[in-house]
Amino acid sequence: MRMPIIAGNWKMNKTIKEAVEFVKSIKDRVAGTDVEVVLCVPYTLLQPVKEAANGTNIKVGAQNMHWEESGAFTGEISPLMLKEIGVDYCVIGHSERRQYFNETDETVNKKIHTALKHGIKPIVCVGETLEERESGKMEEVVKNQVVKAFKDVKGESVKDIVIAYEPIWAIGTGKTATAQQANDAIYKIREIVKELYGEEICTEIRIQYGGSVKPNNVEEIMNQEDIDGALVGGASLKPDDFVQLVNF
Ligand code: PEP
Repeated sequence: MRMPIIAGNWKMNKTIKEAVEFVKSIKDRVAGTDVEVVLCVPYTLLQPVKEAANGTNIKVGAQNMHWEESGAFTGEISPLMLKEIGVDYCVIGHSERRQYFNETDETVNKKIHTALKHGIKPIVCVGETLEERESGKMEEVVKNQVVKAFKDVKGESVKDIVIAYEPIWAIGTGKTATAQQANDAIYKIREIVKELYGEEICTEIRIQYGGSVKPNNVEEIMNQEDIDGALVGGASLKPDDFVQLVNF
């Protein structure tokens, strides 16, 4: 049985005060759920959110990290720094980072290796553009991203990785993939994992859907057989919405 995971991706939003108030306001309302609850927050919020979430079931994730442990990389944050705060997860290869910050399949792969080495669980984002989907290339694009992301990753580590299938055309646009489209894509991703690592690992790995998930569509999405959770941007910013997502 795969434990569903609902992860909020706050992107570049919230002050420390707002973040701490958010955690205080949701912590009792997300307690006791069978879903893993994660907040992926900006670097400045990691420590205060971790402290506010102490003793709760809320886990904390970063939204990016460098692949080196230290060095001359001005403006970057290393896995050791995240580990020191007790970060549980790190989003790797979000489409916004691929689009605006030159993230490539190669840097995604390096970051996955480093995250695993330091016991940080990667949430690895893959997904196609609208043009790619409309020209029938969704499967090819996503396969390429998964194969390159997992290069030289050993089978025993794969259970610690979460894949987030996020069609770029559905992120922040209000256009959700239909539950069927999302499930079909995720089924195909699981088949790719099966080709790479075999049956056991492919039934263990968790694959989320992301793209305009809201309280009014979360249940249908989560009821799909192959979908193990959601990576949520916009709707994770409001406490009441996030609580509804977790308690779908
Ligand atoms: C995301 O940021 O990963 C995302 C899916 O955003 P939204 O839910 O706003 O589409």
